[in-house]
Amino acid sequence: MKLSRILVVAVLLLLVVFWRPALFFTGGGLVSAGHMVQGFVGGFSRSGEVGTPDDLLKTVLIDNESASRVERVVSGPRRKPEVLAVMCMDPRLNSEVVLGDSRGYYDVVRLPGSVLSGEMIEAIELGVKEHQVELVLFTTHTDCAMEKVAHSEAAEHFPALSNAVHKREEMFQALMSRPLIAQRVKEGKLLVKRFRIETPTGKLLPEEQH
Ligand SMILES: [Zn+2]
Repeated sequence: MKLSRILVVAVLLLLVVFWRPALFFTGGGLVSAGHMVQGFVGGFSRSGEVGTPDDLLKTVLIDNESASRVERVVSGPRRKPEVLAVMCMDPRLNSEVVLGDSRGYYDVVRLPGSVLSGEMIEAIELGVKEHQVELVLFTTHTDCAMEKVAHSEAAEHFPALSNAVHKREEMFQALMSRPLIAQRVKEGKLLVKRFRIETPTGKLLPEEQH
């Protein structure tokens, strides 16, 4: 009896000290469990049948109605982005896994091949200037289809994107040279880090292509 009391007190003490990580990881476990359960439902439609574009739209609208109703009840306070991630639009990449967080404290900008157009560079600068993000993760990923296309004959079908893949390094340097970005980095108020995502797991690996 005495031992059980000690255990209860010890658990309560641990919860008082570690309640933030305890809540975060408990919630994360529930989110992952939810994804696993939904994963048993193969296909986008609930019936599992491949439908017409109109069927897809119906599915989206029905699911949006449910999700937005839930959001009305469970959404917390407005979240201020603290990190900005640049990612390829490959559907195998899940930004929630890459950032290890499903609460939305981040901006995500995505184009195939993580290419940096003028608009993308402005989007990143907007995140830094207006959202005050202090960490930018610039990512590419393994087995990137867009990188393969850019280095094959198929590039002629996507000339703008393929050209942008070849110019990615040059555009990255242009991003780092933008006055606001360069100033924030110099002042230690902004960190820009590069990673290559391991596609099957979402793990961030060191970026070696410089
Ligand atoms: Zn890709």
